[in-house]
Amino acid sequence: MADAKKYLTAEYREKTWVICESFLDDMFLLEGEDAALLIDTGTGIGDLKGYVETLTDKPVTVVLTHGHVDHAGGVRQFDKVWVHSDDFEAVRTLTVEARRGYAANFLGSLPRNIEKPSFALEDITDYSRDLPELLPLEDGHVFDLGGRKVEVIHTPGHTPGEVVLIDHGARILFSGDAANPNLLMNFPNCPPIETALRALLRVQARESEFDANFNGHIPVIDGKTWPLPDGVLSDCIECMKGVMDGSVPLETAPGMFGRAPRTVAKYGKVMISCDPNNIYIKD
Ligand SMILES: [Zn+2]
Repeated sequence: MADAKKYLTAEYREKTWVICESFLDDMFLLEGEDAALLIDTGTGIGDLKGYVETLTDKPVTVVLTHGHVDHAGGVRQFDKVWVHSDDFEAVRTLTVEARRGYAANFLGSLPRNIEKPSFALEDITDYSRDLPELLPLEDGHVFDLGGRKVEVIHTPGHTPGEVVLIDHGARILFSGDAANPNLLMNFPNCPPIETALRALLRVQARESEFDANFNGHIPVIDGKTWPLPDGVLSDCIECMKGVMDGSVPLETAPGMFGRAPRTVAKYGKVMISCDPNNIYIKD
């Protein structure tokens, strides 16, 4: 099918596919004995639903790590989508213009050694479909795929409704944008650093249950992919602790894609963009 070129795919573990949407973001497809789970829908540059059906013949449940444009942009292809209710509004207000704007930023900055992706901004449409039914996802929710359980942990920080998922079958953490090497917590609706720290500590306490961490932005090249390096999650946590106790200084860094300069904190492998007035939980 034509859209297959838009999705660069690696089967990282058995029945565990990483689907890279032309280097804009990643989706993940996990198949159990009875059902499959699709984590995120990308920016929506093509027929993701049709592509997923070439990988699995099981019924597919869709879950979003959060409501940002590069994770929720393809939701209109599906009838029902699980997402935390704190990100309902973000999903409902996504526009075709926002999706094209996101993709345009990346079309100009793709790695040079990688074949040019076969999509154009005009491919990003609304699919003439209504929004799907949004199903409220809660902390502790378990998707039972048949012989494979995937558990949700609510990790407010990057967005209020951000979640991560632990796949108990393949022992993988799918961390969305909750603990990225370039962690963005400078959006107007981000919870404070203290909230994010508490959430990531809950994930860290579960570290013995996974041995790979995939965020929503890793490459797939020649059918191969790689999880985040060890230490990214713990560096995010140490960085947040350092911001809170003052041991990690706040610095000014250039804005992304030519935007205004931003405030950042750096620790180990990570850089966190944040609002200096939104560090502590307010009473
Ligand atoms: Zn995001």
